[in-house]
Amino acid sequence: MSDPANKPDASGVRATFSLPVGPGFLHASAVVPAGRTTLTELLPIIRSLDDAIVGRAGQEASAAGSPISCGPGCGACCRQMVPLSLFEAEALAAWLRSLPEERRAVLEERFHRALLALRDAGVMDKILSDNWAAGGEAAAELAVDYFHAGVACPFLENESCSIHPIRPLSCREYLVTSPPELCRDPAVHAVAGVQLPLRLSGALYAFGRQMEQDPRGWFPLVFLLAWSRSDAHPGEKVAGTGEEVLRAFFERLAATGTAETAEAPSEATAEQAEAP
Ligand code: SF4
Repeated sequence: MSDPANKPDASGVRATFSLPVGPGFLHASAVVPAGRTTLTELLPIIRSLDDAIVGRAGQEASAAGSPISCGPGCGACCRQMVPLSLFEAEALAAWLRSLPEERRAVLEERFHRALLALRDAGVMDKILSDNWAAGGEAAAELAVDYFHAGVACPFLENESCSIHPIRPLSCREYLVTSPPELCRDPAVHAVAGVQLPLRLSGALYAFGRQMEQDPRGWFPLVFLLAWSRSDAHPGEKVAGTGEEVLRAFFERLAATGTAETAEAPSEATAEQAEAP
């Protein structure tokens, strides 16, 4: 699947970096544009790195006797309220605009229906009230109400993600180890998941909070279509050479506190996060 937000500069440079992940380091390299780019344009690299972190966390969970139970054809978690960063929204909005008219119309209809279903279930008023923005009990209650409304993500088709290669980081980072049937109602059953040592999504939300003075730095994915009509370009506010933008991203990642959860590094582990 092509991603129109990713336009690699012909004169790319290789950036190498090491991130403390769990008991070791994740060493990665990526070809980034030598010239001006934006955080949104670097999303393919960030997704690739996220996949490397998530993949390794999955392997460690398996080795510890708790393999990931998520699998093809199970879209239970795709009925939750999915956080979407502003930068991922920009990329997905561009991708939506690039679709053939017929396909775009199908997806737009699903977004409309999802919003109407949330309204009819009484959830839309709660989302718009914004008293859940700071988290806590109101946010937990909204999460349960949203799930109980049973509104599938507009990108879910035959219980599979139709945008799998460009799905949001929040979807990539959701790893369940308990039996899949428990996901039918996480409000009733205790769903066990993998705690990632680094959540790259957190850094994207942190940039969003700084830029928009929004307490969350993200919005529910179900609002993507409406948001895309604002023609906003948040990536332009985090721009520079590829190396500068990537460095700014990692600095923000460290500042979100997720990096500090990694324990003291041991022997290096080699993985690659190559630009696709
Ligand atoms: S984007 Fe894909 S993985 Fe994420 S909630 Fe939607 S269908 Fe599920």
